[in-house]
Amino acid sequence: MAYDYDLFVLGAGSGGVRAARISSGFGAKVAVAEDYRVGGTCVIRGCVPKKLLVYASHFGEDFESAEGFGWQVGEAKFDWKTLIANKDKEIDRLNGLYIKTLEGAGCEIIMGRATLEDAHTVRVGDKTYTAKYILIAVGGWPTLPDVPGIEHAITSNEALHLDDLPRRVAVVGGGYIAVEFAGIFNGMGAETTLLYRSEQILRGFDRDLRDRLNDEMSKKGMNVRTETNVTAIEKTEGGLTLSLTDGSTMEVDAVMYATGRKPNTDGLGLEEVGVQLAKNGAVIVDDYSKTSVDNIYAVGDVTDRVQLTPVAIKEGHAFALTVFGDTPTRPNHDAVPTAVFSQPPIGTVGMSEEDALKAGHKIDVYTSDFRPMKHTLGGSTERAFTKMIVDQDTDKVLGAHMIGLDSAEIIQGIGIAVKAGLTKAQFDATIAIHPSSAEEFVLMRTKRDG
Ligand code: NDP
Repeated sequence: MAYDYDLFVLGAGSGGVRAARISSGFGAKVAVAEDYRVGGTCVIRGCVPKKLLVYASHFGEDFESAEGFGWQVGEAKFDWKTLIANKDKEIDRLNGLYIKTLEGAGCEIIMGRATLEDAHTVRVGDKTYTAKYILIAVGGWPTLPDVPGIEHAITSNEALHLDDLPRRVAVVGGGYIAVEFAGIFNGMGAETTLLYRSEQILRGFDRDLRDRLNDEMSKKGMNVRTETNVTAIEKTEGGLTLSLTDGSTMEVDAVMYATGRKPNTDGLGLEEVGVQLAKNGAVIVDDYSKTSVDNIYAVGDVTDRVQLTPVAIKEGHAFALTVFGDTPTRPNHDAVPTAVFSQPPIGTVGMSEEDALKAGHKIDVYTSDFRPMKHTLGGSTERAFTKMIVDQDTDKVLGAHMIGLDSAEIIQGIGIAVKAGLTKAQFDATIAIHPSSAEEFVLMRTKRDG
């Protein structure tokens, strides 16, 4: 049967765009449907705008540090509207680049929400299109718990477009998005409270990093309240009143929920054509990103494997190689380096101490706790901390972790070494770059006791 396209991609985010572009390069005729803006979560309302706001929120501290280095800085003023307008301009530019890249690669962009009619037919508006292969790359969406008054809450989507910076803000959650946005609001001068339901923020990360981040956030003036959740939100004349699980209340001007994201599969027609979904709506795929229907694949956040843009890109690329490049390729999800753009930031790759022990490794742990050089004259009390988890039997570095200035930049290079399975002796044989914070990773010699 002749199809309209070789490949029809649902969703022009990081995974979908990469898959479309590479497949087209292999000679496939490709269409991509998108119902909002080409670029997806990361470019339009995630990593990119978030990071721009993180940069913006650092300037207050930088102006303070500058004095220690001899600079006299006059009274600093911050204008939220200017920042948001400039950020939007940059997102427009990137959106344009993504469109150009896709079209330049010969892919057709179809604007509108796509749904499946059958395993080879996609509907967008009142038109239908047929394709030999279909790729689901529709990403995820913030989820909000069922709390009375939740309609008064915002998510990171709205936080990036607020008309004004709230004077008092509560962020609910303890994952990546919650700690990142708490740092942003606090850095801009908002009175910021983080409300986290469990015992320590950033569940799943190495325990030492979690404790350190809580300490450092608190030192910067954020009110980090663990084991506290919101039971009700009420709109009042002065703003919002939050009722909390400990029986207390608090007044804020905005409450932002960062309580996880859900795969965007509602109403796509996937189950109707036989694509199996997990309980949370994620598309179930095999090692090659193939769903339970032979010609339908899925990549990125919608599969709920590792919700990170670079992982979605790798999965999209592997799909194209497998299906159109005659090179079956499994995306590899081991030792994925990741950064949390909290303040201070975290960079991490490989196993946490807890994961290594759970996996049955006998380990040595190396740590270093220091004050980054910039803070000596700058006067900040913020500290940095590095940690390595080493397998006693093989000397392999199982995990490398850092919290502190520049850790997101530093861990990318360390990630190559951990991914390559290098040993502690090979790290030690590497000459340090001095003076730097990164050098700690080749200088740690003393095993932690116990
Ligand atoms: P996460 O899944 O990381 O965190 C969700 C948080 O919300 C957890 O702390 C969880 O608590 C809490 N939570 C869940 N349900 C409730 C509830 N009903 N009431 C109160 N708290 C609740 O989600 P995020 O939204 O922070 O981020 C989504 C994903 O996006 C991340 O997993 C990450 O992969 C990705 N991301 C990556 C970034 C980066 O690379 N820098 C930046 C931003 C996002 P508990 O721990 O108790 O379950």
